[in-house]
This record gives sequence, structure tokens and C-alpha cells, in this order.
Amino acid sequence: MFSCGRQSATHCKLAPNTANSNKTATSLLTPPVYDEILMTTLRHDWTIQEIEAIYTAPLSDLVFRAAEAHRANHRADEVQGCMLLSIKTGGCPEDCAYCPQSARYDTEVDRQDLMNVDETLAAAGRAREQGATRFCMGAAWRDVPKDGRFERVLEMVRGVRALGMEACCTLGMLTQDQADALADAGLSAYNHNLDTSPEFYGSIITTRTYQDRLETLARVRRSGVTVCSGGIIGMGEDRAARYGLLRQLATLNPHPESVPINMLVPVEGTPLGGRAAEDPLELVRMIATARILMPKSMVRLSAGRLALSEEAQALCFLAGANSVFLGEKLLTTPNPESDADLRLFEKLGVKLVGAEPRATT
Ligand code: SF4
Repeated sequence: MFSCGRQSATHCKLAPNTANSNKTATSLLTPPVYDEILMTTLRHDWTIQEIEAIYTAPLSDLVFRAAEAHRANHRADEVQGCMLLSIKTGGCPEDCAYCPQSARYDTEVDRQDLMNVDETLAAAGRAREQGATRFCMGAAWRDVPKDGRFERVLEMVRGVRALGMEACCTLGMLTQDQADALADAGLSAYNHNLDTSPEFYGSIITTRTYQDRLETLARVRRSGVTVCSGGIIGMGEDRAARYGLLRQLATLNPHPESVPINMLVPVEGTPLGGRAAEDPLELVRMIATARILMPKSMVRLSAGRLALSEEAQALCFLAGANSVFLGEKLLTTPNPESDADLRLFEKLGVKLVGAEPRATT
């Protein structure tokens, strides 16, 4: 029912010289500020003022512009399905305030050592049967270990690729040699989220720095593996922190090929366990703004989806989300059941598809 809008959309550009904090949100999103180029040309020099103007535009304008950018670069009737498996659970020495896998918090997460390769590949096979084309393996480590466990992860990556799926890992910080070894094993993408803005970061994590994260992303980029990096809303940050996160991501050159946008799932026992649910329309604004700033990236509607109504999820897809996690668990937090997802996609006329990571330069 939908088609790619490359041919027909009114291509337009948010002109670089409009970085003027005096402009109103509406003026930044209304012709003639847009011209023929915005939706397919990538910029890496976004300012906070521009991002704020986009984020705070009237919601209908914002979603409309994001949908245009989406259709100019992707098929609007396709969503990539990813499956995330926790291959090593709990006992992490870091103190990320949202995370039930931190050893510092008393949560119901049971610790589990690194899984074996056969179990992991069996899970990848089941994910493929459920329509997933990307299999993500997450391990609650601060750093990627330098012992036989890393060899085991490399074997998992080779096995997932042999199943014809994209392989993604999120294993914490890594060295350049480790990034290169993952690349040699065929890793498609490495996830390492920035989580939030540099300014708010210290309220959430104290055991590693923002710069550590940026350096990990740089090593992944140098290895040739594509970058998956995004953040979380609903942790008590203000909108300025969201603009700051988006600017960090959108000024990376190239942009991350995949940008997961998460909404906090408060877990009892973590410092953020008592936080009230975030307004889903903030998630829609975040996704739409990410879509406009990084039009060629996959924007992934990630954790927190279970708290969204079908209508809110539909709005997220309209705003440019084109990737989701399938399966009942995201590492340790709940996610919609596969059947519910398939029913929703059918109602929306959306197909689950594979998507090789694209270069976004
Ligand atoms: S988010 Fe990752 S690094 Fe932070 S505590 Fe959880 S598992 Fe550890």
C-alpha cells in the first residue's frame, strides 16, 4: 500500500545557514526554508538551535517532514526485525542507573555466564524463523574480555552470518584489535549507545566517561563494522539533554547506520526504578527528529515499546522508525510478544524485511 517516495516527494532542505536561534520552530520547518535537497543530503554540522527548532515544531509539521525524509530514503512499508539475545547476563561492574544488570543494584536479574555457541546459534535460528534478519548478542561486560570468551563470541558471529543473518554485538568497550577481529569474523554492526547528552551523562553513569564511549564508537568505525548508537529518554533528562544526544549522534561523520531510540523501562531495584512513564509523544518527537537529522540511518524503536499503544507505535513508524526488536525480551526487560507484533504489522500494512547496513557518508 505504501511505496518509496523517492520519485514523488517534495524534496527539500533545511538550509545549513538557518542555524539561527531567533527563528521560530515553524519557520524552520516551512518552505522556503526547505529546498530540494534536505531529505537525501546528509549534514554533520547540526546545531542545538536547529535541533530544538525541529524537535519543538508543531507535531503535525514534524511528523510530516520526518515522513517525507523517511520516504525519500527508505520504503515506508518496511520494518527491519531484529532479535536481541542476552548471551551473558548480569553482574556488570558499571553503574548505569537504568540497568538491572548492574551488580550494584538489587534486582531480580539472575546472573548467567557466557552462553555456549550451540545454544546461541539455535536461538538465532529460531529468530530467523520468526522473521528477524538481524541477530544482536548482548553481554553485560564493562570491557570485552581478552580470554577464550572473546573467541567464543567470534565463533557466534561467524555462525550467525552463516545462517544468512546480520550479526550485531553489544559487549561494552573494546580495543582496536578486538574491533578488527569482530570485523574479520563478519560482524555487521556493533552497538554502543551514548545514552544521553554529555551534560546529563554524569547523572546516569559515573563508571565510564562519555569520551570512553565516543572512543569505542571510533574504534568500531575504523574497523569497518557499522555503528549502532542511540540513547534513552525518560531518565529525568530535560529536552535540552535530548537535543544534546541528537547532536552528538548527528554530528558523527558518518552518521551511525543504526540509531536505537529507547524509552526507559523502569526496573525495580535500579536508581530509576520509580520513574513515571515518559509521554509517548516525546518518543515520537525524538524519532521524528532523528529521522530528519540522519535521514539514511535505520531508526530503531527499541526498549519501552510494550508501554506504547498500537496507535502510538503507528505514529512512531509514521515518524520514521523503520526497525524494531522482536521477541518477548530485550536483554532482561519485556517486549511485545511476537504474535502481537505480527498482528500490528499486518494492520499497518508493514512488511518485516532484511536490511543490509548502508554506508551513510
Ligand atoms: S547498561 Fe551495559 S554497561 Fe551499563 S550496567 Fe548495564 S550491562 Fe553494564
